[in-house]
Amino acid sequence: MTNTESIAALLNLLQERQSFLLTSHARPDGDAIGSTLGLMHLLDGLGKDVTVVFADPIPLIYHQLPGVERIVHELPAIAPDAAILLECGSVERSGFDRIPAAFSINIDHHQSSKPFASFNWIDPHACAVGAMVYDLAIAAAADITSAMATCLYTAVLTDTGSFTYSSTVASTFALAEHLLQRGADANRIAQAVYFSNPPSKLRLLGLALNNLHLDGEVAWSSITLDEMARAGADVEDCEGVVNYLIGIAGIETAVFLREFNGGLAVQQLRLSLRSKGEVDVARIAERFGGGGHRNASGCTLDGPLASAVTRIVSALHAASPTPVGPNHSTLLA
Ligand code: 5GP
Repeated sequence: MTNTESIAALLNLLQERQSFLLTSHARPDGDAIGSTLGLMHLLDGLGKDVTVVFADPIPLIYHQLPGVERIVHELPAIAPDAAILLECGSVERSGFDRIPAAFSINIDHHQSSKPFASFNWIDPHACAVGAMVYDLAIAAAADITSAMATCLYTAVLTDTGSFTYSSTVASTFALAEHLLQRGADANRIAQAVYFSNPPSKLRLLGLALNNLHLDGEVAWSSITLDEMARAGADVEDCEGVVNYLIGIAGIETAVFLREFNGGLAVQQLRLSLRSKGEVDVARIAERFGGGGHRNASGCTLDGPLASAVTRIVSALHAASPTPVGPNHSTLLA
């Protein structure tokens, strides 16, 4: 199906149903929250009954988004007519075991997304799922309120890395312009997203940068649970650390490993992968059971840390257009 056909089919599906449950992926980011709340505002405008549920807490920097107070963290007892999963490549990624609904809809832009739902609209060319929701709103001739525009602008701003990733094209700026015209306040949103960090985030960044290793064209760093405790930091504070690693001159790929307590006896690590251009880190993450985009992806590996580092750094070297052997590691401390 073309995008236009998918949108038309989706509008029909929405019109035929009354109650919707919206959700996105665990550890939600700006696109997960912004696109979901944007769709909530769109469905509100169409007179639908909407419940928004996220498995994990909403990071503080997104607490100013209009409608965020309607987000709940428990699945409803009564199944809605349809569940819509946004930016969420699988039911498992939502953080819930199962989503109670007779009909499911998957709206995603990850190249690794699988057509797991009853209806799937996957557009890997979309810069953000927020941009797909905007196209849906336009096709529905919906009123783009300032609340909706604020949510969708936040989605686009964050998922394009502040309009820097290769997914940023001329139409991305046209979309941003439309959203500002509809009431999104670019300065207020940037203040909330980029200039409202808690001190713990900076302390954690300091520790992570202290653990920086350069291995040929690969940069990596890690944080243990002990270090997080020392910084007084939590998971939310780890967001974006990997972007400092990929920002180093001469580095082509970067990975940030964060220890987490997955309840298993073995140490587990969440990985954030980034690439500047040639290397498709979505494919590498997929090999380890994760996924994402060509230039930004994630996955989970079993520890110990040293073995996880060896596995991922070897995979990144092997995928490099100018492969170099590992063991060129330099600790910058
Ligand atoms: P981040 O490193 O910012 O957590 O994630 C980068 C990108 O990869 C995001 O688009 C995120 O949704 C995706 N991603 C991260 N972890 C996973 C994962 O375990 N599975 C899948 N399918 N995508 C992931």
